[in-house]
Amino acid sequence: MSDTITSDLVLFWHRRDLRLSDNQGLHAAFERSEKVIGVFCLDPHLLNADDVAPARVSYMLGCLRELATSYRTLGSRLLVVQGDPIATLPTLAIAVGASAVYWNRDVEPYARQRDREVAAELRDRQISVEAGWDQLMHIPGAIRTSTIDSKPYTVFTPFRKNWSRQPQTDPVPSPTRAIDLTPAELQSAQQAGTIEIPSDGALGIEWNGGFPIAPGEAAAKAKLKQFVADAIFRYHTDRELPSVVGTSGLSAALKFGAIGIREVWQATHQAAKGCRNDVAASDGVRTWQDELIWREFYQTVLYFFPALADGPYREMWQDFPWENDRRKFQAWCDGRTGYPIVDAAMRQLKETGWMHNRCRMIVASFLTKDLCIDWRWGERYFMQHLVDGDLAANNGGWQWSASSGMDPKPLRIFNPTTQGKKFDPDATYIRKWLPEIRTLETKRIHGGGLTPLEAQSYGYVTPIVDHTVQQKRFKEIYKQQKEKYS
Ligand SMILES: Cc1cc2nc3c(=O)[nH]c(=O)nc-3n(C[C@H](O)[C@H](O)[C@H](O)COP(=O)(O)OP(=O)(O)OC[C@H]3O[C@@H](n4cnc5c(N)ncnc54)[C@H](O)[C@@H]3O)c2cc1C
Repeated sequence: MSDTITSDLVLFWHRRDLRLSDNQGLHAAFERSEKVIGVFCLDPHLLNADDVAPARVSYMLGCLRELATSYRTLGSRLLVVQGDPIATLPTLAIAVGASAVYWNRDVEPYARQRDREVAAELRDRQISVEAGWDQLMHIPGAIRTSTIDSKPYTVFTPFRKNWSRQPQTDPVPSPTRAIDLTPAELQSAQQAGTIEIPSDGALGIEWNGGFPIAPGEAAAKAKLKQFVADAIFRYHTDRELPSVVGTSGLSAALKFGAIGIREVWQATHQAAKGCRNDVAASDGVRTWQDELIWREFYQTVLYFFPALADGPYREMWQDFPWENDRRKFQAWCDGRTGYPIVDAAMRQLKETGWMHNRCRMIVASFLTKDLCIDWRWGERYFMQHLVDGDLAANNGGWQWSASSGMDPKPLRIFNPTTQGKKFDPDATYIRKWLPEIRTLETKRIHGGGLTPLEAQSYGYVTPIVDHTVQQKRFKEIYKQQKEKYS
């Protein structure tokens, strides 16, 4: 504990860090004051957005409930306010008599603008603001090219190399000290326009699809512990198979900060130490670490290139002649394209709010290259459903799949049939999500070619496009577009 600790009341504003442990901003608040109260703002701008997903909001509310209990255990409270943070935060800070508000910074354009405005309002009222970094191992700006102009990276591989050379930070400890708020302080906090954490229904959402990981810090820690003790060592191979639980399932927890990235990274180090002489297992650990670095890469590039949130990185994609056929788009959303691996994945997304990474790549390639539909339609649809929907990772994944992003490979087209055969060879995944064709022989599932009558009798559909034809067409459109920009 620092010598200069005060008894001033300090607010800690939680946003994408719904936890107490390994939370850098919260740790700093505890270093400053013996009286820390948590606050969360239900921001209508985010909750009423047209890309909000019931699964995501429901998961977030679950995390908040657990966090509120943790604050009570410490003798403090998590206060919840509803409304524009630019107005509600300063009002709350004054009502409780806070001398400072702490928070962890974010990379998203909306959050950065919002934070600037909240900070200005607070400072106008002589309330100090302390905003630092937490959600990344290495802050944006720490990883730059070694050229004289020291630029942010736009390509993953050199970013990863540089990232890996940086010193790794250990997790910060959880607060253990009890917070002795006086009854008067508690009362003023509770009367300061705060609300109870609403139920899903009170926010107008309904989610019955479950979660890949239970909400909250305890579940995230348990999942991490389980993953690094076992599945991480097979991750390099199992992660490709959607029918196998071969990935961590931590994405929603990382998105909402139910677990800290330093804690996750440290766990990978322990795993690596435990398998030093096992080449395959070490490969598994390294491959998983790479995925965590992809997460950092996409967040870092969004920070430096905020325009990515609104459109393609590469110029030639700005006026790309997408065909945007609404009926085809609907068939894609409904999982009725006639390509079983695509349809299984889209049903998994709708029913569970989560989709396996390999399948995210397959359906994104299919939407953009086979159906010639603007990747932004798919990006929005994903955000409307994903429990882990995250602007940086989702935008990065979609631009990678559409070929409009920073990836140096010019044009990537997946063949949905060969992808299905390769990654779901016995069609276990397809059968799970497409029960109507469960009884078909595996080779017929992958081979397609149901006659219209057969498809009808199974309650399924024949392919809405021919991949071979569409691939050729897309390459032609792409060639013309490239020429236009050369
Ligand atoms: C089109 C498309 C859209 C995507 N949208 C999202 C999204 O909205 N939110 C999201 O978290 N991930 C997204 N991803 C990345 C990836 O699919 C998910 O992170 C992963 O499937 C989550 O499952 P997991 O936690 O079991 O991952 P694991 O395989 O266990 O990976 C561990 C963690 O690393 C991070 N990660 C893994 N792969 C990536 C990646 N390619 N890019 C960035 N971070 C990654 C995630 O935080 C993940 O939880 C998208 C990928 C594609 C191709």
